[in-house]
Amino acid sequence: MTTQQMQGWQHVYSGKVRDLYIEEGLPGIEYAERVLMVASDRVSAFDHVLSPGIPGKGELLTTLSLWWFDQLDDVPNHLLAPGHVPVPPEVAGRAMLARTLDMFPIECVVRGYLSGSGYLEYVETQAVCGIQLPAGLSDGDRLPEPIYTPAWKAPLGQHDENITFERTVELIGAADAEALRSLSLSIFGRASTIAESRGVILADTKFEFGRNGETGVIALADEVLTSDSSRYWDATTYEAGGPGRLASFDKQIVRNWLSAHWDKTGTPPALPPAIVEQATARYLELIQRLTGE
Ligand code: ATP
Ligand code: MG
Repeated sequence: MTTQQMQGWQHVYSGKVRDLYIEEGLPGIEYAERVLMVASDRVSAFDHVLSPGIPGKGELLTTLSLWWFDQLDDVPNHLLAPGHVPVPPEVAGRAMLARTLDMFPIECVVRGYLSGSGYLEYVETQAVCGIQLPAGLSDGDRLPEPIYTPAWKAPLGQHDENITFERTVELIGAADAEALRSLSLSIFGRASTIAESRGVILADTKFEFGRNGETGVIALADEVLTSDSSRYWDATTYEAGGPGRLASFDKQIVRNWLSAHWDKTGTPPALPPAIVEQATARYLELIQRLTGE
């Protein structure tokens, strides 16, 4: 993996998709007031980084994140006002300058519809993260109401693990666990309404929160409501039903192709150009639908 060299910034961490930098000369991220989060064009599925990347993805996802932060501007978030320190020109458009927060080790997942790992868990137990659900639901069905299904954020290289709300209380304490749940459900509700008004279903998403060490305030961090962290479906095809009802605007296209062409052992095969093109077009269409631009 190649990371960008930028005057004045040092690379401190790379996830599957994003690279984190802090200002040069600091001994570590825990000493940095600011963090530069650069979204690459890398695409991951089933916990593998695939090749090739999706050209322009980093920029599209950053645009979408920033648009959502703006829609939710009364929710405290980690963005630093422009002009705090400049975003280096090399990564302009695909980077966010954020306040370094003490991150909670919880992926705050909210599901309005049942799909993905939630659906798999439901098939086995008729529950997701300890929340009992009605019998007879199919993949993609709308839930009676959105549910909070947290996951424990595993250290790099390990799989995140679905946990119950009670487990989050043990991990971070009752007050914070309740704050994360109520913030997640309320942001999800607002975002779903906005998406729906634009013909898009927000099926599920994952938020991450952190605490501002100075003020103690819990803020929305990481990327928000992007097509990497969320499932988005086309409301028209969903209503029409049938096999194409879950026409998605996220990387499900990539997951579907991989599932059909790879047994999930060893290195995943290279994505064919047609799949890369389709994925790019869908990412772009989502942004156009949501933002109207
Ligand atoms: P994965 O590849 O599974 O997503 P990851 O979540 O570790 O792994 P990225 O999402 O690429 O990798 O990296 C972003 C990292 O930055 C995450 O660990 C996230 O928790 C962290 N992060 C997000 N916002 C902030 C912030 N304001 N302060 C400090 N860390 C943050
Ligand atoms: Mg992440």
